[in-house]
Amino acid sequence: ATPMSIMVGTGRAAQLGVLFRKGEALQQLRDAGIVAFDKTGTLTEGKPVLTDLILDDDFEHDEVLALIAAVESRSEHPIAMAIVAAAEKAGLPLGTITEFTSNPGTGVTARVDGRLVAVGAQRHMPHLDFSDFAETIEKLASEGKTPVFAAVDDRLAAAVVVADMIKPGSKAVIDALHGMGLKTAMISGDDTRTAKAIAAQLGIDTVRAEVLPADKVQAIQSLRKQLGTVAYVGDGINDAPALAEADIGIAVGSGTDAAIESADVVLLGGDLKGVLNAITVSHATLRNIG
Ligand code: ADP
Ligand code: MG
Repeated sequence: ATPMSIMVGTGRAAQLGVLFRKGEALQQLRDAGIVAFDKTGTLTEGKPVLTDLILDDDFEHDEVLALIAAVESRSEHPIAMAIVAAAEKAGLPLGTITEFTSNPGTGVTARVDGRLVAVGAQRHMPHLDFSDFAETIEKLASEGKTPVFAAVDDRLAAAVVVADMIKPGSKAVIDALHGMGLKTAMISGDDTRTAKAIAAQLGIDTVRAEVLPADKVQAIQSLRKQLGTVAYVGDGINDAPALAEADIGIAVGSGTDAAIESADVVLLGGDLKGVLNAITVSHATLRNIG
């Protein structure tokens, strides 16, 4: 393509709210064989709400909610927001936090008034026994809800279930990509059953779940080996490395600054339809030039 036609193409895309930060991205996007999506905050709203707190018999609802909300008040994860909002709504006072640590992709731990409190995925507390919760969790996850767990002083206190709505436009975007002959994938740090349930609702071809933020890079490399040029669409929370690794990294607006720096394309306003606009413009720009 000539520099002139690239300029015209990026100009047209900008009018549609699609910012190409590099001219080459317009050319590479034409060759994409697969579009991979982050789940939380990209295909879903990223604003989960707490739906269930399933308690071990030795613990009480308000006690556990206050403890985990105290720890999560230090985290910016969407799950943390859901837990803190629920405690606020219940008017629960939060204790004093010390020794806070956060493991990206697994969970958070701290002392709350001296008690050791952990909140996160099963892999965040691998030494605990989850068998009492297995059946209930299986059912909730297959509905697309996300289960995490609360441990207090190294005892499993509760399963904490949050639900995040699929964005109203996500299904139409996936359908349109398939209509263009592209494959789709979801790469998520979330529970495998939850991710599969959401992917099934959207008709997504391939799911990689329980992927740690640093391992999203390998997931993209393996998709590239199978299916060629990979576009990755993410909101930038925990996925800047994936945006950088993809052949075309597409950040959905309101993402973080780090995401915008590692992205080739930025969709303003967070509308996923921008992915379709970006691809359409890339095809139109490069069609006549060959
Ligand atoms: P995603 O790829 O879906 O955006 P993340 O990599 O941010 O997910 O997180 C993956 C998983 O790690 C979450 O689904 C949850 O199980 C756990 N996790 C991470 N941070 C937290 C937290 N602050 N509180 C509870 N669980 C967490
Ligand atoms: Mg995300």
